[in-house]
Amino acid sequence: MNNVKIGEVHVKSVLTKSNLPIAGYSINPYVGCTHACKYCYACFMKRFTGHDEPWGTFLDVKYWQPVKNAHRYDGKTMIVGSVTDGYNPQEEVFRRTRAFLEEMQGAKINLIITTKSDLVVRDLDLIKSFPSPLVSWSINTLDEDFKNDMDSAVSIERRIAAMKKCHEEGIRTTCFISPIFPEITDVFAIIERIKDFCDYIWLENLNLRGNFKADIMQYIGEKYPQLLPLYQEIYNRNDRTYWRALDGSVKEYAERNGFLYVIDEEPFLRSPTGKPVIINYFYHSEIKQSAKTQNAERP
Ligand code: SF4
Repeated sequence: MNNVKIGEVHVKSVLTKSNLPIAGYSINPYVGCTHACKYCYACFMKRFTGHDEPWGTFLDVKYWQPVKNAHRYDGKTMIVGSVTDGYNPQEEVFRRTRAFLEEMQGAKINLIITTKSDLVVRDLDLIKSFPSPLVSWSINTLDEDFKNDMDSAVSIERRIAAMKKCHEEGIRTTCFISPIFPEITDVFAIIERIKDFCDYIWLENLNLRGNFKADIMQYIGEKYPQLLPLYQEIYNRNDRTYWRALDGSVKEYAERNGFLYVIDEEPFLRSPTGKPVIINYFYHSEIKQSAKTQNAERP
């Protein structure tokens, strides 16, 4: 990306105590994110950055006082990339994510990295030194044109190749199918594509609570006008029929193929079959109820 405004910020620590259910600490080595996803859930961060530029067009490189005594974090879960991508293209130059991984060497942390990039493969030497690392790629389409409409990150094929490489190197992998765009994201085609080198498949519905709702609805109206009535039902009238039906289809698919399928469970459940575990993070309680029934029936 050529028109990115690069700055720098100096902070005391790169470790932030996290409210996320999956991690005790979040690590964001940059402020901003140049993948510039149209549906970015983190763009609310802009108001804390002092930037006037649109989200996705600025990046502040973070410098911090090096982590002292990394062992005091043994046993803690740390997620890299909760409101940025630690492997934005600029990481190739600034190497701040790599600096963090170097500072934590030797610590027995549970490392989670979330990304839309394949640059993460560069740091396999460091990542592999942690006890049970996990790398997650967001993939919500196999259609590169739709992907290009939605984000500036590397192609889906490059993400999939990186996932395969990490899996071959013994690193746990997640395919985060998020956000699921109704009738555009083909969940099953994605699963079929990655299932042989993926440990976890996390599902999350498109949520249009953010400022970007108008942009997404306009995009759907222009590019997928036949879907606009469905999107209006879901996002203007809060109709959840689509998500219930998708939940049912995933459940059937999982049963047919011997995958464990759970709802809102902790993300690192081990599969008894060695096949990927599918975890549904849709928001509605009706589906949670259906999952409880399913789990109760599971031997
Ligand atoms: S990769 Fe994540 S943080 Fe970056 S723009 Fe996309 S949604 Fe936002």
